[in-house]
Amino acid sequence: MEENAYAIALRQFDKAVRYIDLKPGMADYLRVPKRELIVNFPVTMDDGSVRVFTGYRVHHNTALGPTKGGIRYHPSVTLDEVRALAMWMTWKCAVVGIPYGGAKGGVVCDPKALSLRELEKMTRRYATEISVLMSPQGDIPAPDLGTGEREMAWIMDTYSMHRGYSVPAVVTGKPLAIGGSLGRSEATGRGVAITTLEALKRKNIPVDKARVVVQGFGKVGAPAAYLIEERGAKVIAVSDANGGVYNPNGIKIRELLAYAKTCGSVVGYPYAEPITNAELLELECDVLMPCALEKQITAANAPRVRAAIIAEGANGPLTPEADEILVGKGVFIIPDILCNAGGVTVSYFEWVQDLQSFFWSEDEINERLRQIMVRSFNHIARLAYEKEVDMRTAAQILGIQRVVEAVMIRGIYP
Ligand code: NAD
Repeated sequence: MEENAYAIALRQFDKAVRYIDLKPGMADYLRVPKRELIVNFPVTMDDGSVRVFTGYRVHHNTALGPTKGGIRYHPSVTLDEVRALAMWMTWKCAVVGIPYGGAKGGVVCDPKALSLRELEKMTRRYATEISVLMSPQGDIPAPDLGTGEREMAWIMDTYSMHRGYSVPAVVTGKPLAIGGSLGRSEATGRGVAITTLEALKRKNIPVDKARVVVQGFGKVGAPAAYLIEERGAKVIAVSDANGGVYNPNGIKIRELLAYAKTCGSVVGYPYAEPITNAELLELECDVLMPCALEKQITAANAPRVRAAIIAEGANGPLTPEADEILVGKGVFIIPDILCNAGGVTVSYFEWVQDLQSFFWSEDEINERLRQIMVRSFNHIARLAYEKEVDMRTAAQILGIQRVVEAVMIRGIYP
């Protein structure tokens, strides 16, 4: 049977803790989520029938602060997947030095198969169900796969209606008009682009010679693609759930974005050839950015991957077997908990701005984000060199060490 995301997250953890001197029992504590909520709730559908949805909210660890993590709408959401994503959030926040613990949520559903009205009702009911955990001081959700600004606005409004006053800081990734942050919508992709530029420097590849391949053209993949293109790289292939497009001479990303917005997919874009998602992952390139789903590169296709750098925009796009094969081939991997941490970083900025009702300029946000991403990249690269481990293990070591330090300083209650 295929290994699930939580088993993968635990294997990565077990590998990293071998390099950390831990008090007995500490690893057992960090391997399990602090709390898990499962909600089954009814929604009246447009045809008058009632449908029961299942949702989750998992808090992995709260040693560093309130929990933070996205909400995923996808038919394949499982409790174990949410657990893995929550655990990765704990290490991710710690890696970039942000005072949050890790959480994640999800609803088992296909948002594309619901009407707008059904989607809103489902979101508001799910928000109400998880409001026992959610609060600006306790747990602050954000967008993930299948959710975006619209859903965050509904969640913020639902929570606020129950309180009787507006609580913008309860959720991040909101529209600007209701307390969202400048720069948030492209922050994850910007972080992917910033860390890719650092990796290119280390591999001595000039950015204007770099050929980039992007899987997934959503909230992460699209900004990552146009921002790296703006820095002079050539994006030669892009895909979404329906398939991909390839042009060895480069694709104009803003043009492709406009096409995809109108047509609902990159497929059929006239200035490139069609390519499947499987073929796209195996294209010869300098940078491969998997920005879609987990487990896209496995032991089966990893030997055929021909990228010099892999920038993990998505969470968990490589299985541990693929990781080992690619590290063995000398591929430079920017691990997810570093590469896509730009999103949570600007979510943190959004939360701080909401709490203070004082908003920053976009330049200030982007510059602070750049500093955090570059500093974290260099810290991890240094640790990888010192400990003679790969970048992922180094990132895990850094994240785990910071959480352990917080746990030890706070002490184990009572
Ligand atoms: P999204 O829903 O905005 O976009 C996902 C994209 O992937 C879409 O273009 C979709 O068509 C494509 N896709 C879906 N299934 C695919 C498949 N089988 N093959 C190829 N493409 C496929 O989601 P997103 O927010 O961009 O999230 C993508 C990944 O990034 C997820 O792993 C998510 O956890 C991670 N992530 C997101 C954020 C964020 O701020 N949104 C932050 C950190 C990490």
